[in-house]
Amino acid sequence: MNTLKILVTAGATREHIDPVRFISNPSTGVMGAAIAKAAKERKHGVTFLAGAGCVDAPGIKKRINFESIDELKSLVLKHLRHHDVLIMTAAVGDYRPTVINKHKMQRQKGMVLKLIQTPDILKAASKKYPNKIIIGFCLETSDLIHKAKQKRIRKNCHAMVGCQLGSKKNPFGKNQLQAILVDDSGNVIFKGYRSKSTISRLVIRYAEKLSS
Ligand code: C5P
Repeated sequence: MNTLKILVTAGATREHIDPVRFISNPSTGVMGAAIAKAAKERKHGVTFLAGAGCVDAPGIKKRINFESIDELKSLVLKHLRHHDVLIMTAAVGDYRPTVINKHKMQRQKGMVLKLIQTPDILKAASKKYPNKIIIGFCLETSDLIHKAKQKRIRKNCHAMVGCQLGSKKNPFGKNQLQAILVDDSGNVIFKGYRSKSTISRLVIRYAEKLSS
């Protein structure tokens, strides 16, 4: 087996509205930390890009923190050059405010926040580095297989891991997940209810298979 250099992104992005408020999501970074651990177990080199408040990835020395989507995008595009594989578990926001207020916004009646779409980092990475192995993650409330397939095509990555957001189990943090992996022919390579560490081992083995 070749040892690989794997770039892992984890946790949530934050897009500021004003100096004390931001738009974000509940991602903890546990999935990304599990991926980093599984990669380390297989002796691969790992660079861990971590959002604000992201959990620790034990044993990973190369951790770089990010906050906004633009920061994460620049880090991914800069560091992927020196890596073989990108695994994007980070929960990247799809929208951000059109303006960031310099001063704390004061309470007012009927405030309307104007949002614009954010750049797609996976799409930009697969365009800039067509020879790298790129795997995305998505979290869905319905039509998991169909949406994972569509997102893999749209973002032009080798594989998309789809995770189900059910009404009973919270997918954030340390819980088990209903997850599938869709390959670049639209095949479902694995599916089932598993722990994040088991899913991570399967994803790392899949990346190894792609790079062999
Ligand atoms: O479209 P959705 O956000 O569900 O896509 C999930 C995948 O795309 C994740 O791997 C996430 O890191 C990545 N993503 C991205 N840039 C965005 C939004 C999501 O790279 N603006």
